[in-house]
Amino acid sequence: MFLESDVKLGFSDVLIRPKRSNLKSRSQVDLQRHFRFLHSKYDWTGVPVIAANMDTTGTFEVADRLAEHGMLTALHKHYTIAQWDAWLENHNHGDDIYNRIMVSTGTSDADFDKFSTIIANHPKLQFICIDVANGYAESFVEFVQRVRDAFQDKTIVAGNVVTGEMVEEFLLSGADIVKVGIGPGSVCTTRVKAGVGYPQLSAVIECADAAHGLGGRIISDGGCTCPGDVAKAFGGGADFVMLGGMFAGHDESGGQVVERGGRQFKLFYGMSSATAMDKHSGGVAHYRASEGKTVEVPYRGPIDETVRDILGGVRSACTYVGAGALKELTKRTTFIRVQEQENRIFG
Ligand code: 5GP
Repeated sequence: MFLESDVKLGFSDVLIRPKRSNLKSRSQVDLQRHFRFLHSKYDWTGVPVIAANMDTTGTFEVADRLAEHGMLTALHKHYTIAQWDAWLENHNHGDDIYNRIMVSTGTSDADFDKFSTIIANHPKLQFICIDVANGYAESFVEFVQRVRDAFQDKTIVAGNVVTGEMVEEFLLSGADIVKVGIGPGSVCTTRVKAGVGYPQLSAVIECADAAHGLGGRIISDGGCTCPGDVAKAFGGGADFVMLGGMFAGHDESGGQVVERGGRQFKLFYGMSSATAMDKHSGGVAHYRASEGKTVEVPYRGPIDETVRDILGGVRSACTYVGAGALKELTKRTTFIRVQEQENRIFG
């Protein structure tokens, strides 16, 4: 046994200290980032916020809306090849859609064959998101290498991990972007079921440092509860921020609508929840526990409003610290440790 006693921080442990700024308005803040990825050498420009590859948020409908804002959607891995074909062929998308979507996959041979077929049918697809709950298995590293060997010019996302040495291992194995987050998610119960996890802000700070040293990028995945948390993730060094819960409950999100007491709710659930496993894998296997919960999120209307709220919040953070562009936010961020967040007198 070994005990690390320095404190690791989550978003709710800090605030961003304001700094003198010569920006006159939020409208002056440029939220676009430009990256040339480590292995694929692909040049990408966009607003680096990603809808999570959950079957409730990584939907074609969400992708259509977020693309209009220059943002990304990691489409969930349960869409069939026929559904991909129908969406890409029938929707009159311009080529820019390929900058705004990721194909998600698990790590079985069947998963490999399926996403390879989707890419063979649509060779302009650029991003492959290889996603497992626990990115620490040796076999996962081998899978990333296999995908890199087969798809030299595609941009590969791999995760999830929370420590610098594993970020380096993935970047050296062929990933361009490493997804960071174990346990912070809104419908995740890993910390309760397994006792494993890492406070998200510290994970981001440490993993960004490791990735940037090698020319790689990271996604902060999970744990954002409000636009301020998204700003803190970027301030901590995240190149991209992935959101599940904040995008749940909208017209474009998946999930059944339920009515209670005259109010509408939409189901939202973890991809390792019993709900998801019943739907996609015929139930929870006997050797595992469900590590996700199912919740009812108040129906929130069109996703556009929420997008505006998030982007407005990040722009505001930038103006408070004098960052004219999102790119400058990290180096202009000083976090202060706090024991209070919002004033909750009115709930
Ligand atoms: P949120 O933005 O809702 O806080 O977090 C979204 C992230 O939670 C997802 O991108 C994914 O990494 C993680 N996640 C989704 N479903 C589950 C689940 O069932 N169990 C766990 N442990 N994590 C999940």
